[in-house]
Amino acid sequence: MTASSIASTAPTNAATKRVLLASPRGYCAGVDRAVLAVEKALEVHGAPVYVRKEIVHNRHVVSSLQDKGAVFVDETDAVPEGAIVVFSAHGVSPAVRDAADRRQLKTIDATCPLVTKVHKEAVRFANGDYDILLIGHTGHEEVEGTAGEAPEHIQIVNSPDDVEGIEVRDPDKVVWLSQTTLSVDETMETVRRLKEKFPNLQNPPSDDICYATQNRQVAVKKIAPEADLVIVVGSQNSSNSVRLVEVALEYGAQASYRVDFAAEIDEAWLEGVTTVGVTSGASVPEILVQDVLTWLAERGFGKTEEVVTAQEDLLFSLPREIRRDMKAKAAEKAAAADEKG
Ligand code: SF4
Repeated sequence: MTASSIASTAPTNAATKRVLLASPRGYCAGVDRAVLAVEKALEVHGAPVYVRKEIVHNRHVVSSLQDKGAVFVDETDAVPEGAIVVFSAHGVSPAVRDAADRRQLKTIDATCPLVTKVHKEAVRFANGDYDILLIGHTGHEEVEGTAGEAPEHIQIVNSPDDVEGIEVRDPDKVVWLSQTTLSVDETMETVRRLKEKFPNLQNPPSDDICYATQNRQVAVKKIAPEADLVIVVGSQNSSNSVRLVEVALEYGAQASYRVDFAAEIDEAWLEGVTTVGVTSGASVPEILVQDVLTWLAERGFGKTEEVVTAQEDLLFSLPREIRRDMKAKAAEKAAAADEKG
């Protein structure tokens, strides 16, 4: 049965209203690590701790950290000399690291290890003198960081339509890489068109679109065909959240909207709706999803079925700079206790 036939035949009453809750959803290992890195930096060093760009693309997370003493800046030249600065999960280019060094900033690198992996691939292929076609969105911080590793070798490919205009030096020495948070389907379409143009195009050594992005898209693909409406919790500048809305619509949801908070849901979206799908982007704390479920329950959508398409148990250790600082702080405390005793 298609989503439209559900909407046209099912009565809209409390007995039939339901929520399909996608799983996995929400926080990924890279976001968890980055947010924890800022919290630990605040604990060890005290406020303020400067953070270059939003640590992760979520309004709630950023304002919670601001309340605890984090100061978000656009560039390192806004950080006082010698202060602590955390690099966000999206990664930075070597030029940003150099600028931080020149100001003698103490840096904590919260770049997601899966973004670092793409940086290393870019450096490796640039050293091999390849033309690198980086599929991603111009202006996104992650793409700026990766492209900055080898600007003279990298061209950004925003969409399948960009392919026509791409020129390379040697069509037998070309590789594609990608941003970690893209739509898998659209990326594969871009690759298909690139391969038509450059038949010897090399693939990345492993998937660049990360496990969390892929898993959240698989889960939303599962719920979308049955959903009259899919609500994606996530911020506007969160690439993977925006992709979830697109994927939901492509896979049969009649409507799909992204909201930062439950309060942004428009009651009119529920007109004629019996099944609401709910999911969240990789930078979204679960509490925001629970708020949406509560909001829906108050409007008759109290029955929630979780649709699980994968289990996730990946964890990344904290950035080494913060582990070192935590150890030093613990040793300092132990020495002070010894002195007292
Ligand atoms: S979305 Fe993927 S690449 Fe980005 S922080 Fe999470 S795990 Fe890392």
